[in-house]
Amino acid sequence: MATIAILGAGLGGVLAAYEVKAEARPGDKVVLVSKGDTYHFVPSNPWVAVKWRERAAIEVNLPPVMKRKGIEFVSTGAARVHPTENRLELSDGASLGYDYLVIATGPDLAFDEIEGLGPERFTQSICHVDHAERAAAAFETFCEAPGPIVVGAVQGASCYGPAYEFAMILDTELRRRRLRDQTPMTFVTAEPYVGHLGLDGVGDTKGLLESEMRERHIKSITNARVAKIESGKMIVEEMTEDAAVKTSHELPFKYSMMLPAFRGVAAIMGLEGLVNPRGFVLIDKHQRNPTYPNIFGIGVAVAIAPTGKTPVPVGVPKTGFMIESMVTATARNIGALLRGKEPEEQATWNAVCLADFGDEGVAFIAQPQIPPRNVNWSAHGKWVHLAKEQFEKYFLGKLRRGQSETFYEALALKVLGIAKLKETKR
Ligand code: FAD
Repeated sequence: MATIAILGAGLGGVLAAYEVKAEARPGDKVVLVSKGDTYHFVPSNPWVAVKWRERAAIEVNLPPVMKRKGIEFVSTGAARVHPTENRLELSDGASLGYDYLVIATGPDLAFDEIEGLGPERFTQSICHVDHAERAAAAFETFCEAPGPIVVGAVQGASCYGPAYEFAMILDTELRRRRLRDQTPMTFVTAEPYVGHLGLDGVGDTKGLLESEMRERHIKSITNARVAKIESGKMIVEEMTEDAAVKTSHELPFKYSMMLPAFRGVAAIMGLEGLVNPRGFVLIDKHQRNPTYPNIFGIGVAVAIAPTGKTPVPVGVPKTGFMIESMVTATARNIGALLRGKEPEEQATWNAVCLADFGDEGVAFIAQPQIPPRNVNWSAHGKWVHLAKEQFEKYFLGKLRRGQSETFYEALALKVLGIAKLKETKR
């Protein structure tokens, strides 16, 4: 019988635990190695940062759920993966041997790459629920003495949707508080154009997001490289097509949230053959590492090449729907290996996303993710906000009840359908 360890209990890891368990043979052991007992739903962090959600509402206590599913749960986290020894060194010094390992450790947030960046310095973050709570406290203080806002994503970032979401959510919340007239907002992004999203746009995300930002009076600087951040001031270099400095901007701010670049986590960083120089897991088309074929990678932890050359480095986002497709392929491939067969499943890597703006939003579908595409669709409306709220409810409800099996994909489509119907009925 085999032991299958899943490292990281975020979106990819929790779904992988469910799906691998469903593919495992009776008697195989599935172990989920988490840092702590709690899962939190990252897509809701922007709502936590404006107090539209309490932290508890987006968290799931994993041990009882995993127990019900027959999945072993380790909450100490791993200090290091030892791929040549097929073992995890846990943070309490213990060892966990595995036959198969699924790495789902998400990102390490590279705040240290830019002077002054991050919640320990001068800008807020919504990448983790702890950061979102701090961002919420800072926002309340800001509202007592409002001023300019800078929101965006720095060079090398591979997550843009949440930056747009947060800019629009701030706009919505500030309008509700009747403070928007005192809070000029600038969106600063490494993307070559508004709506690129690391995907060279999807459908008309360029037009939709440009128009949305015009309507909400949000100025933008694209091809932006953040040189440094000081207390209340961001130095931003706007680059030309051939990556020379076109204009240097000194942006004053009283509140700022900037998404950092991502890299692989410390437990895998530098492992020759397993990860690339940024620490992302190298995988083949079956989500399998070529050097260590008993190791699979899923989610933000995996290496994906950028869609094309841009003046400022722009990474490809790894979103929920595509992560689910990586999970399903990985689980089925491990199921095949356990039965002496070769892995055949490939993730679709399609992107289906809902970007919430607080009162409305933009939805898009990219199939495949890298253009040219068979489906390249985007739409805009109040129904997107409703869909995102419903999706959060269904997703967390299912997770708490231990119901799984590719539910992300099924639900995404179902919720899109329901919400669209609601909008038409209005
Ligand atoms: P994560 O969810 O980050 O999980 C990684 C887990 O591994 C974490 O729990 C971490 O603690 C754990 N870990 C790390 N190192 C170790 C270790 N050594 N030992 C044990 N555990 C470890 N996508 C969408 O499709 N729709 C959205 O609306 C959306 N919104 C987003 C909003 C934000 C603010 C961000 C940052 C991303 C968003 N995404 C969204 C993108 C993506 O879906 C999420 O980032 C998702 O959480 C990624 O899943 P993951 O499993 O790869 O990583």
